[in-house]
Amino acid sequence: MRMFQVCTCGQPLQLAEQPTPEPQGTEVLLKVLAAGVCHSDLHLADGWFDLGGGQRLSLQDRGMKLPLTLGHENVGEVVAVGPDAAGVRPGDRRLVDPWICCGTCAVCLRGDDNLCTAMRSIGIFANGGYADYLMVPHPRYLFDIGDLPPERAAPLACSGLTTFGALKKVPTLTSEPTVIIGAGGLGLMCLALHRKMGGHSAIVVDIDPVKRDAARQAGAAAVLDGAAPDVVQQIVNLTHGGAWAVIDFVGSSASARIGYDSLIKGGKYVIVGLYGGDFTVSLPPIAMRALTIQGSYTGSLHEMAELLDLVRRTGLPPVPVATRPLDDVNAVMADLRAGKVVGRMVLTPASH
Ligand SMILES: [Zn+2]
Ligand SMILES: [Zn+2]
Repeated sequence: MRMFQVCTCGQPLQLAEQPTPEPQGTEVLLKVLAAGVCHSDLHLADGWFDLGGGQRLSLQDRGMKLPLTLGHENVGEVVAVGPDAAGVRPGDRRLVDPWICCGTCAVCLRGDDNLCTAMRSIGIFANGGYADYLMVPHPRYLFDIGDLPPERAAPLACSGLTTFGALKKVPTLTSEPTVIIGAGGLGLMCLALHRKMGGHSAIVVDIDPVKRDAARQAGAAAVLDGAAPDVVQQIVNLTHGGAWAVIDFVGSSASARIGYDSLIKGGKYVIVGLYGGDFTVSLPPIAMRALTIQGSYTGSLHEMAELLDLVRRTGLPPVPVATRPLDDVNAVMADLRAGKVVGRMVLTPASH
């Protein structure tokens, strides 16, 4: 099998060839049909996140082992199953939930398997889908996509689940406007799911006019320039006093400032994006204004099932998806890094 791997942090992915593995135990081997390219792949290839204040979070210190095949938004066709893998057969097309958990730690047992204390996520801690074949440890991570096109379903694994998990944290989703910061792949997916979930209205903030246009076309009630000096006041005006909920898909020092400063009393700032940085807040107002700052990371297996149920009932989120051959992966990642991608880029198998 062929795979594209991070061999040295900060360098382009390298093509490697290895014998295709045989599934053991509960493992399932899939032929990759579609693999979405996520912004966090750039951080994984770099090997670090920016913690702000000159500090870096090294992924190798956190258990990432090289070489690593990236790719955590995958749809594949089952080609072989281990002797203990029940419920799937060769020929089945499945979406792969990449957030592989231990199933036994306290966090898993309370149902937050996506926050497992010993994550073995596909494409992050285990080899992912920028490859011909992908091994999944257990059929519980495989979700039937019916006859959905693989390249349209693949982004549900991270982009879809991550935005769904964030939207589920907004108690005022259907009664008040939700502010969405960032109209890249995640922001547009969030906007689409927000509508499907019966969201009241969405105010989208982005510094890029092309992405603001995409958000407007996707049904945002208002779009604001995140670089405007009065963007916070604009949000306060549009929400008649401050946002009840802000979901931040950028996660930079600047976006956090906007999101947090826009809140009304009792409001909630949900941070999802991993751009990096830090921000300083005064403590008394958190108490006096009863504010919530909440992180959100992907979603649980239960939420994945709920998301696919929503998609079955209401159709796929209409997010722009473009496909490129797997062999173009480094060019696609360069485009993403340069901010040139609107919606989602999905890699499809090379035709050889
Ligand atoms: Zn991702
Ligand atoms: Zn666990």
